[in-house]
Amino acid sequence: MPNVQLHEHVRVNGFLRRGQQVVGLLTTNGELPADRVVLSAGAWSGELLAGLGLSLPVEPVKGQMILYKCAEDFLPAMVLAHGRYAIPRRDGHVLVGSTLEHVGFDKTPTAEALASLQASAQQLLPALAEAEVVGHWAGLRPGSPEGIPFIGEVPEFPGLWLNCGHYRNGLVLAPASCRLLADLMLGREPIVDPAPYSPVGRLG
Ligand SMILES: Cc1cc2nc3c(=O)[nH]c(=O)nc-3n(C[C@H](O)[C@H](O)[C@H](O)COP(=O)(O)OP(=O)(O)OC[C@H]3O[C@@H](n4cnc5c(N)ncnc54)[C@H](O)[C@@H]3O)c2cc1C
Repeated sequence: MPNVQLHEHVRVNGFLRRGQQVVGLLTTNGELPADRVVLSAGAWSGELLAGLGLSLPVEPVKGQMILYKCAEDFLPAMVLAHGRYAIPRRDGHVLVGSTLEHVGFDKTPTAEALASLQASAQQLLPALAEAEVVGHWAGLRPGSPEGIPFIGEVPEFPGLWLNCGHYRNGLVLAPASCRLLADLMLGREPIVDPAPYSPVGRLG
């Protein structure tokens, strides 16, 4: 990708400032100056903003999933019922999810969730009682009030932009969120009304 540099395994510890203006990042690799900074640290976004004395209502919401291995033609379509879902992969794996848990930043898979997900799986697709669970893991969603993301500039700190708090829909919302963010940063006509997503008045 031209004009893009990825810095892998580098932790951001805070923001470089000139007065109220955010002018870069403090990282484990030293200072990284920038004209503008976009905070998109998922469930961890609030911790970083707290360093500026701002309270962002984004909290980790743990989601556990399990994976079965089935025959390639076992499930031709997704199944969604009773708040749980089964998603087929092309190679016959079937993903069943997910839990919604408010337990902080803990990503440990638990026996209770395994039993609950297996029960849901067999309720959705009884034949899964015969299938093998080959994976069990957890992720942290960036939970926000009503699941409405924060997209836009932080008024108290010019130069600092947010794109975070997408809760359960960060994958499907990613293209539109990034487009809206780019529109706002470049002063273009925004793709959608930016008002519901603006950080203005939503940070403590
Ligand atoms: C079980 C489960 C099922 C889901 N299903 C769906 C679905 O079907 N459809 C859908 O749209 N969404 C789904 N989601 C939600 C989706 O995963 C999230 O909304 C999305 O990942 C949020 O993207 P993000 O980039 O904001 O945060 P993340 O994906 O969490 O990425 C944030 C990144 O920032 C990094 N980071 C944090 N702090 C620092 C720091 N200080 N320095 C450097 N890097 C840092 C983290 O390591 C991480 O890589 C699901 C989530 C879970 C857990």
